[in-house]
Formats: sequence, structure tokens, C-alpha cells
Amino acid sequence: MMTVNAEHEVNPEQTSFESLELAPEILKALSEFGYTTPTPIQAQAIPVVLAGRDLMAGAQTGTGKTAAFALPLLQKLLPLASSSASPARHPIRALILTPTRELAIQVEESVKVYAKHTNLRSLVVFGGVDIKTQTPSLMRGVEILVATPGRLLDHVEQRTLQLGQVQMLVLDEADRMLDMGFMPDLKRILALLPKQRQNLMFSATFSNEIKKLSEAFLNNPALIEVARSNATAENVTQKIYLVSQENKHAQLAEILRGSDATQVIVFTKTKLTASRLARQLQREGLLADAIHGDKSQKERMEALEAFKQGKIAVLIATDVAARGLDIDQLPMVINYEIPSAPEDYVHRIGRTGRAGASGTAISLVSPEEEKYIKEIEKLIKREIDKEQSSVSIAPRQSRDSSHREKRQDRGESMSQPVRSLPKSKSNDPWFDKPYEPAQSISAIPANRPAGNKSKTPVAALLGGLRRQDS
Ligand code: AMP
Repeated sequence: MMTVNAEHEVNPEQTSFESLELAPEILKALSEFGYTTPTPIQAQAIPVVLAGRDLMAGAQTGTGKTAAFALPLLQKLLPLASSSASPARHPIRALILTPTRELAIQVEESVKVYAKHTNLRSLVVFGGVDIKTQTPSLMRGVEILVATPGRLLDHVEQRTLQLGQVQMLVLDEADRMLDMGFMPDLKRILALLPKQRQNLMFSATFSNEIKKLSEAFLNNPALIEVARSNATAENVTQKIYLVSQENKHAQLAEILRGSDATQVIVFTKTKLTASRLARQLQREGLLADAIHGDKSQKERMEALEAFKQGKIAVLIATDVAARGLDIDQLPMVINYEIPSAPEDYVHRIGRTGRAGASGTAISLVSPEEEKYIKEIEKLIKREIDKEQSSVSIAPRQSRDSSHREKRQDRGESMSQPVRSLPKSKSNDPWFDKPYEPAQSISAIPANRPAGNKSKTPVAALLGGLRRQDS
């Protein structure tokens, strides 16, 4: 792959949007939207794309990558813009593929903003909603289509769109698309596009698979990397609390209550944990909601909107649901569960500390998760500050907790509600008693006289310990 490292050609510090020779219509939209200076990825990618080259860009969400491809893409299509109402004058000329609906929506929102003073039309299509609702808008004609791969193919099958005039293709978050198993869909889509076209690929990481994909579909691409692909932002303060699984909830509650952060994303590994945690925090009076793949599109969008508007302070998200979430000035990210893939950690904490703002990323790490931290530290090439958690909720050795451990063994959610949170008092005084450790079987004196009927209430509540002496 022949590459151009544009870093040597452009000094982003000295670049303005005007100097990138963007059209007045686009410059007007940018200044109305409050953009004054291009971000490094924009300063480097825009000239390359305007020159008509294929591009392989290593950039995460938060770097300004959307405008890095959307602005030159719009500019290249400008001569073809038409004020005619006829759908025939508005064929799909640029296709932007994203792995998730949320990212698709956000990309298209940005495209609309940048294109607002042009006659170029854009539309987003994604799965999870009735395909028929998308058809009328497609039929009216759009130059820029943002789509998730599966739904795009549904439309192709239903003949509700034609791809014969696509001259620009963008694969956004290509690494995620591969992770999510979109490779077969991508191949089918690529086969439907005209061979003569410009291809842009954006990926946060450069795995071997990504390199293979880029070799397969990019033609003599320029390579641009704005930060080391696996680096974490310098302006994000990272911290680890070493905490038992049982105490995670209490630690989280303490952090949330003690923080003046107005918006926090809490990451979990599973949808189940996300839902449970959200319900639990709601019960404790926190403005929380969950966003994950099992929720309907409408519910996800409502939760995201409420979060953006500040009606929800804590958004619990799984990795997949959180991809592409574009929330300005997110001050804090909390990892309630640590991802087993270290790249996911980098993606997660990349949600905060954007555009030079400072951010905090806190991870609650149980002993079982420490192995993941080692991998993460290897990847980010730095050690993260660790502190022993000081919350001490006595772990109740209940039937519930033994079930919890069994669930963990099966790889299911690790965050069952911690029943011993000092919230409301129960009606049963037993529950409000301090924890009394159960005597383990081996701790029962072997020489205890047979027939000793001394009471062991905790053991009784565990469903009755099998007594050695009975
Ligand atoms: P992205 O990486 O495309 O998701 O963009 C991250 C955030 O940066 C979004 O909220 C954009 O609106 C914002 N952004 C992108 N480019 C600029 C710019 N040149 N100046 C200020 N903000 C920007």
C-alpha cells in the first residue's frame, strides 16, 4: 500500500477552513455551526479527498473525523447539486456506511448541517424500524445516503434504491464493522457499486483484518493517522478503583453522588447488567437510563435525547450501543465492568476528553478483572493509577450471592443488585442487622458434641448448612 503521511505536508495549527479551499456555502455552514479551526484529521484529510485520492484514516470518534470526510465529499458533489424536484436529478452519489444506527444518525445529522446551504440532499436508513417509512424519502432522491449495511441491502432487495451512480464510498468505523460481522454484507455492497469511485475508510484501529480490507478495496490510498491508533487521549484522567464485585454498585453510587459531573456514561458488558443497573439507580433517585441493543430504536433515541438535554444524568450503555455516540463535553466515563478486549476500553474512554476538553475515566475493577487491566495497560503503554476502594458494604453471604457467583461462572451478568445498600430499611429487622459471617463447615469445631443444637441463623438462611455433626 503506497501511503502519504499527510502530517508532513500540513501543519494543522496553521490551517483554516478557508485555506483548505472549501466552497463558500460550506464555509458559511461551518461558521454558523461555530467551527473556527479544522481539527488535525480535517486539516490532513480534506486536501487528500479533494484531490480525489482514496484514503485510509486512523481516527477515533471525537477527533472530528465526520467532517473530515463529509466536508470534502460535499464539495466534490457540489457541481452535481440540483435544485430540481425531480428524483432523477438526485441519484445516490455518495454512500456512507456505519456499523450502528446511532452513528448513522449522527453522521447524517452532521452532513445535513454542513450541506444546509447547498442543494445536496441526505438521508439516513438503518434497521430496527419499519422499512416502508424510509422508502418515500428515498424515492424523492438523495445524493448522500448514510446507511447501516443490513438495511441498505434490504432496500437493494426491495429495489427502493439504486447504487449505479455512487462515486464516493465511506466506510466509517470500519474496524467495528468487521467486529460486528458485517464483512459478508460489505462484500455484497461493494459488488453493487460502480468500479470507478473514490473510497474513504476510517478506523480507530489498524488490525490485520483492517489492513486486508483496505488492501482489497482502496486504490493507492493516502494514509493518515491523527494519533497513535491505540493511544488514549492525554487529557483524560484515568483511574481505577479496586473493588469487589459486590461493592461495585456502592462504589458507583458514591462516585456519582460525589461528582459534579452533569453527564456520565457508565459502561457495562451486558445488556442485562445495563438494564438492572439503570433500574437500581432509578430506585435510588438518580436520573439514569440504559441504552442497549435490546431496546427499540425509539427507546434508544429517546434515552439519548434525554441524556443530551440533561434530563438524564447517567446513561448506562453497552459497548455496541455506545459506538458513535456523539455527546459534546462529556466529562466522565465509568467502566462498571471491564471489557475483555482492550480496544473497547480505548473506545469507551474516548467518549470523554474530546476536542481538548478534560475528562475523567474511572474503572471499577474486581479481582477477576485485573487480568483485563494488564492487557489494557499494555495496549495504552501506561500504568493507570489504582486505589483500593474504601466503600465497605458487608458482603451478605446469602443464597443470592451464591447464585450471583454461579451466574458469573457462566459468563452472565456480574452485577446483580446489591441488596445490602443502605437505602430504605426493611420491615424485617433481621435484614438490618450487621453482617454476621457464616461459619464455614470446616470452621465448625470437629469436637462439637453431637446433638448440639446451637443456632446458626446465617447458615439457616443459606438454606440450611449440612452439618457435619448431624
Ligand atoms: P467526530 O469525531 O466527527 O464524531 O466529531 C466529534 C465532535 O467534534 C463533534 O461534536 C463535532 O461536532 C465536533 N467537531 C468536529 N470538527 C470540529 C471543529 N473543526 N471545530 C469544533 N468542533 C468540531
